Amino acid sequence: MSQKELRDLVAETKKQLEHLRVLGVDGIQISTATLPAVAAPQITTPVTPSVQPPSKPPAPVASEPTTSLFGDIAPAPVKLTKSTETFELIHAEIGDCTRCPLHLERTHVVHTEGNRKARLMFVGEAPGADEDVQARPFVGRAGQLLTKIIEAIGLKREEVLIGNVNRCRPPGNRAPTTEEASTCKPYLLREIAVVQPEVIVVLGNTAMKNLLDTREGITRLRGNFQDYKGIKVMPTFHPAYLLRDPSKKRETWEDLKRVRDYLDSHRSSDR
Ligand code: URA
Repeated sequence: MSQKELRDLVAETKKQLEHLRVLGVDGIQISTATLPAVAAPQITTPVTPSVQPPSKPPAPVASEPTTSLFGDIAPAPVKLTKSTETFELIHAEIGDCTRCPLHLERTHVVHTEGNRKARLMFVGEAPGADEDVQARPFVGRAGQLLTKIIEAIGLKREEVLIGNVNRCRPPGNRAPTTEEASTCKPYLLREIAVVQPEVIVVLGNTAMKNLLDTREGITRLRGNFQDYKGIKVMPTFHPAYLLRDPSKKRETWEDLKRVRDYLDSHRSSDR
């Protein structure tokens, strides 16, 4: 391999690793057979390897490595590790948050609420005016519609978990900026790791893009199960959008029926 090819390979690998990091992957497996080759690559122009093979292989971070077309560096599918944190601990850490500019105009921090053993979770964008006053997610008009949607699939609101990417109301109900979302999102992900719901319904573009880290729009992905670390994710329209365009309720109903059917056919005994 020439030096240029090696440089390109390193740059591409860095790009791929950064992409995986953004997706939430915090480690990949490399087999012990591969490590010496990575540390001392075969190149036509001799270079001094800058990385020495470690005396011991690193501890595995995920399940067994998968073999793939690209050899044995393909990361094993990432599964969410169950967290032993509590919501109380996470909420105490959030405290009277001033980590992003949204704190300037909010009244309350609005935490995730509902059943902490839920099989099903709904994730929205950020609190609106009613939520900001009541310190509870989805209690305004869109929230009332969400409650009806939950009931339409045979569940009670108290049986599911409901949260948002951002916990403070953006002024004028604008969408949170990328920085605001990425400041707040880790707390949501920690809650997801505590509860490990079987299905997460992401409501609208902001929730979908933040959980799935995709550039696709909701219209394209809705109705098809996606994956977040082994959890089924169903993107569908945000109830506020349904209030503006009721004709989209039919597609939303189709999406929720798929969620209901999945939950019905995967009954687990431990919840
Ligand atoms: N819209 C959201 O995305 N979240 C809420 O909590 C209320 C409205």
